[in-house]
Amino acid sequence: MIVEITEEQRKKLTEDSKGFIPAHLYYECGNGWYEIIRTVGAYAGRHLNGWKEVKGIQERLKASGRYNEKYHGWTAEYFTQNPIDPSIETVAIQIKEKFGGLRIYYYCSDPYIDGLIDMAEAFSFRTCEQCGKAGERRSYGEYTYVSCNDHLMERSIAPVVSDT
Ligand SMILES: [Zn+2]
Repeated sequence: MIVEITEEQRKKLTEDSKGFIPAHLYYECGNGWYEIIRTVGAYAGRHLNGWKEVKGIQERLKASGRYNEKYHGWTAEYFTQNPIDPSIETVAIQIKEKFGGLRIYYYCSDPYIDGLIDMAEAFSFRTCEQCGKAGERRSYGEYTYVSCNDHLMERSIAPVVSDT
């Protein structure tokens, strides 16, 4: 029996990710991966909100009359390179276990977030989905999961002997 992500954890994930992980998201994975998801969410949220931060810096400088092209021109350069606020449409749509590993699907493509998610998937293959301790990828027949020694599923204790 998998322990699911709790209501309190859901709220924290939405808060820490600054909305990258929406409140209504349905999780199909165990509680052991909570810290991995929280880390991805926090970094994604920080990355996606960088645009708003730079916008805020530029607007405050201009409003106060302290904007100086020589020192603050990097903000204009930033908006030349990043014309659209990436937080507008980039959002997680599904978080689940698939083939034993963590999968985080999201709308829109962003190389930074692609990298974060690849890293999270790699960590999930070493993290017990039940409790978050160091785990190993295990299989029984076609079913694959990751667990520590305390959370071995009964059906994986006796490995299937293939006929072929
Ligand atoms: Zn465990």
